Formats: sequence, C-alpha cells, structure tokens
Amino acid sequence: MIRYKDILAESLVDGVGLRVTAFLQGCPRHCQGCHNPLLLPMEGGYEVSEEKFVDKILALVTPIHHGITFSGGDPLAQPEALFKTIDLIKRRQPRLNIWVYTGYTYEEVQRVPVLSLIDVLVDGPFVMAEKDLDLPFRGSANQRIIDMEQTRQKGCVTVLPLEKTARSWAS
Ligand code: SF4
Repeated sequence: MIRYKDILAESLVDGVGLRVTAFLQGCPRHCQGCHNPLLLPMEGGYEVSEEKFVDKILALVTPIHHGITFSGGDPLAQPEALFKTIDLIKRRQPRLNIWVYTGYTYEEVQRVPVLSLIDVLVDGPFVMAEKDLDLPFRGSANQRIIDMEQTRQKGCVTVLPLEKTARSWAS
C-alpha cells in the first residue's frame, strides 16, 4: 500500500519534458519554507494499493509525455511501496523516465533498493538560505539533479547535464 495526496496530469516544472507528477504523502522533515507543508503528516492523503496507484498514474500518460515524477512529501519515506510502484511502471511503460525528489542526500540513501530503478534523483532538503527561484527543477542550490544511470556506471555522483538532456528528451 502507498499513500499519496495528488496526481498532476501535466507538469513542466518537475523535470525535463512533459510529465505526470505524483505527490506522495508524508515527510519526516520540517524544512523552513517547505513548498508543500500539507503533505508532511505521514497519516494524511489516500492509501491505495500500488497496482491501483499505477493504474491512476498511467491513465494520465499520453504519447507526448516524457516521464513520471514522484514528489511530495518525501517519496523515499515509503521506499518499499515506491519500489513496487516504479517497478510496475517500468514493466508496463518502459519508455517513461522516472524522476524522484527526496529530502535525503544521495549519500544517505544510496543503498535503498528503489534507487536502482530511478533515472534521476533530485536530492537534499530545501534550505531557505540557499533558495534560488532561477534554478531549474529545484528550490535551493544545495539540491542536486543526479543522473542515476551515469552515477551507477561511474560509481560516483554525476549531475545531469540539463541542457543537453532537455534537447534529447524533448525531441
Ligand atoms: S524534504 Fe521537501 S517535503 Fe520534506 S519538509 Fe523539506 S521541503 Fe518539505
């Protein structure tokens, strides 16, 4: 079972290209200036099976969508349910790339199994002192947009080359 609050059919701000964004419920942090304070309680939102959740997400995907983003809340607060959800999506729609936002750093969660299924991890908590509204796809400069495939291959954190990726994924 997985807890979520909302699913947005069309987003251009939660990753490269047109995306469906799923907002998972619950986050153990309380960052000052959190963009989504209503999603912090672990017991809020709606609890559904992972299969139903995937049905809801994929029902919104059209041929022009590039991927699915999991935001929140902190999706990694439900690591097993997130693994099952992404695994189901990859089996049913392998062309979709998967972005996950988390308040944890990569170094804190690198051994969590679901990371093996993720294409891009946006890591780290929102830090008010590093807030920058001009940054693409993140709120504060400490957060990194990590290319997980390259990171797995090289064995060290590799940040996504955003402009190059935007051109290739949006074509
Ligand atoms: S990690 Fe994200 S969702 Fe959690 S409190 Fe911080 S800004 Fe809010």
